[in-house]
Amino acid sequence: MPLEELQSELGWTQRVAHAESIAIGDGTNRLRLFPGLRRTEINGLTVWLHNPFQTSSNGDSRLNAVDVAQVLRPILQATNSTRRSLRVMLDPGHGGEDGGAVAFDGRWQESHFTLDLAWRIRKRLERQGFVVGCTREDDRFVSLDERTATAAVWRAHVFVSLHANYAHNHEATGRETYVLPVEGGQATAEDSRLSARFCLGNSNNVLNTLLGFSIHRQLPGRLQSADRGLRRARYQVLRDAPCPAALVECGFLSNSNDVKLLSGGWYRDRLARAIADGIADYARMLPDMAYDPMPPTVAPEVTTNDLPETATNEAPEAATNDMPVAATNDALEAVTNDIPKTSTYEAPEAATNVVPGKAEEATAKPGTNAIPVEAVNPSPATTNEAAPTEAPVEAGPAETLNSERSTPNTQVGR
Ligand SMILES: [Zn+2]
Repeated sequence: MPLEELQSELGWTQRVAHAESIAIGDGTNRLRLFPGLRRTEINGLTVWLHNPFQTSSNGDSRLNAVDVAQVLRPILQATNSTRRSLRVMLDPGHGGEDGGAVAFDGRWQESHFTLDLAWRIRKRLERQGFVVGCTREDDRFVSLDERTATAAVWRAHVFVSLHANYAHNHEATGRETYVLPVEGGQATAEDSRLSARFCLGNSNNVLNTLLGFSIHRQLPGRLQSADRGLRRARYQVLRDAPCPAALVECGFLSNSNDVKLLSGGWYRDRLARAIADGIADYARMLPDMAYDPMPPTVAPEVTTNDLPETATNEAPEAATNDMPVAATNDALEAVTNDIPKTSTYEAPEAATNVVPGKAEEATAKPGTNAIPVEAVNPSPATTNEAAPTEAPVEAGPAETLNSERSTPNTQVGR
């Protein structure tokens, strides 16, 4: 699809072309595309397409039709309406004998972090009136099959899996959000295998994008180089999810700065707020026809494991990501550092705990493009987030760069 066509469809009149990028916009929203690359920026936030943006020497520029239909249009044309009451299934990654990654200093493991984070998110969502379930409520092993089956039986509207990353390159840092690639579409991560096979999760392609984007744009550090973007991967929980699903990698346990952040209760609260706010945003963007107050139980699909079940927790590159860590980290670190291993979830005290002002969130907001940057709450804990990164940072793994080298119009080495 010619870029001009998308631009006129959106009614956007601005267009700025540089050697390394083309940006279109309407004064509020901006889409920036990089010739030969799958990486894009929507209002400064990194979003990975399935296919590279193609330009030719005569000035033609084209976007893949599937990327327009399943990625860009859902995000760029999203509008706010009444907030839906959603059943949210949180999925704290790992547990029990499967501890996941271990923080580089050996002090805690991923499974304890994800459970702690899930409780914090749950409390926030319940206070806002959402119905929330968890695939595990304590430190026990739960298989991937069980996790999606639980969501199906429980009739979840959304499924959000929580994880933390690990890379041999200890420089790798930042947050990334994954949703399922479309059928036949290329993954963003190191697992670049194509699969044209339809997965249950593909029935929600558009909503997956909307959910993933809604969450990702709320995550801290979204306009820094530590923003690794909204990505695509065929993780089993995403393939088999009975409803729109996203997987959040909250930071790298192999990176000392990330571990410092994730070790702080204040930062886990910050993450919890971001993810809860993202889910609430999604609840406002859900189109009428996509909402069923009580979704049917979806029979879990029998999975053939021809694809990796989980991330290899290996992000080969991202060495260029110098994450500016807020100078306040040290002071704040002391607040509540302990990630509990065995704490139990306590439900918030019903309606009396409603945060003033939250009730208004259930009412409709004016229907406009739902993505102005101003709508995103800046972090009170850092001052660096407002500064957009102008230089494109190719934070994708080596696979991504290799595949891009093989395409025409490639700008090698960027
Ligand atoms: Zn994990």
